[in-house]
Amino acid sequence: MEVKDEVLKNHPGWSLALEIITVLRSHGFEAVLAGGCVRDALLARAPKDLDIATSAEPSKVEEFFPKTVTVGKAFGVVRVLGDNSEIEVASFRFDGKYCDGRRPQTIQFSTAVEDALRRDFTINAMFYDPVSKKIFDYVKGQEDIDLRLIRCVGRPTLRFQEDHLRLLRAVRFAAELGFEIEMDTWEALKELAALVQSVSRERIRDEMFKILKAENYGIGFSKLHESGLFMALDPELDKIYKKTPSLFRNPFAKASEVSRDGSIHQDNQIWARFFAAFGERCLNRDFLEGQMKLYKLSREAQRFIQKCLYYLNSLETIAAWNLGKKLVTFAEAEFQWAVTLATIDPAKASHGTWLSELKLAYQRRGLDQVFPPRLLRGEDLPSSIPLTERKNVLDLAFQQQIENSWTHREEALAWLVKRGGG
Ligand code: ATP
Ligand code: MG
Repeated sequence: MEVKDEVLKNHPGWSLALEIITVLRSHGFEAVLAGGCVRDALLARAPKDLDIATSAEPSKVEEFFPKTVTVGKAFGVVRVLGDNSEIEVASFRFDGKYCDGRRPQTIQFSTAVEDALRRDFTINAMFYDPVSKKIFDYVKGQEDIDLRLIRCVGRPTLRFQEDHLRLLRAVRFAAELGFEIEMDTWEALKELAALVQSVSRERIRDEMFKILKAENYGIGFSKLHESGLFMALDPELDKIYKKTPSLFRNPFAKASEVSRDGSIHQDNQIWARFFAAFGERCLNRDFLEGQMKLYKLSREAQRFIQKCLYYLNSLETIAAWNLGKKLVTFAEAEFQWAVTLATIDPAKASHGTWLSELKLAYQRRGLDQVFPPRLLRGEDLPSSIPLTERKNVLDLAFQQQIENSWTHREEALAWLVKRGGG
């Protein structure tokens, strides 16, 4: 097999990686690229990061490079900082016994072969020397890349029992790469799926999010369901999946299409799409909050999702609003995303016409470029309007301003007089 050097060279950390490898070698140590980046380079995919594995121990790595951060000295990982990139350098190691289903109790620095054997999947356990262009593959990883298979290094049951996060990682890589899970690995995954409950909610969230963003999101969900992982993680959502798997179809032909949207709310949008599968049950606040808690989402994310799903499931009501109120609400990122979700949901097809007309009206008024300041302010209201009503009147005035494209204060004041309040 051949490594596609171009994808490595295109990575911003490439020159730093080469420098680190050269320096370590000049001191007589082995140093190679390791893990995910070798897998990605064999698949001609852009790697997320370039990781280095070396026979030098962490104290040596720190000695050779002036700027380092120790990320996990206990695990032999040192981060070397360059001018505009940073690279993790991990010492070859061998993991001791795992007791808590999470991490080994001890580690021992060791050889490249043993370092390969402690890694999770064969496709993730290869090394590459970018100077000689030689691949070091002690686990038949290249064969599995060829077969497009996720296969545990060693005995699957043992490897999953050691570290329960690997259960989710297997599905995540299947979804990201579009690979199948090898039979013995798959049997072990199904047998041990319930162990996923011991994984911290933060790590579950991170893996789940990677599945949500993956190219093959659908494969990820069918595997989560069939393995029993989904049932162990989120039985409510698993039930819905069983009944209507189509709700979990990736609405974006490619994950990159979400990023093209360029929204700062991108992550929240992806989560909102996920929870939209609950349909009208999202209108029950306690229910939705309970679900979101399972994934330890930030308050800000929860607020976005809740609002967005409220809009998505209240389109009947919103359709009856006056145009001004619709236009003002359209300025909210949550509403805009609800509209996007509605246009890809066949069950919401009946709302297609007014939603696209609304979008056009919004653009025609230039509201997507600049949103005008309010013409009417609190001090314009006569004291005869009771305190409890003043905000409503101001909101209504603003809706009228937007609907009628007023640009002068007089227009708003005239409306106030006509309404009987001026
Ligand atoms: P990504 O492209 O998502 O970063 P990756 O393969 O680089 O994928 P990382 O989580 O960055 O994954 O880990 C780097 C490498 O460390 C993996 O390729 C694998 O060899 C090893 N590794 C990571 N997590 C585990 C684990 N839980 N058990 C065993 N080995 C692991
Ligand atoms: Mg990585």
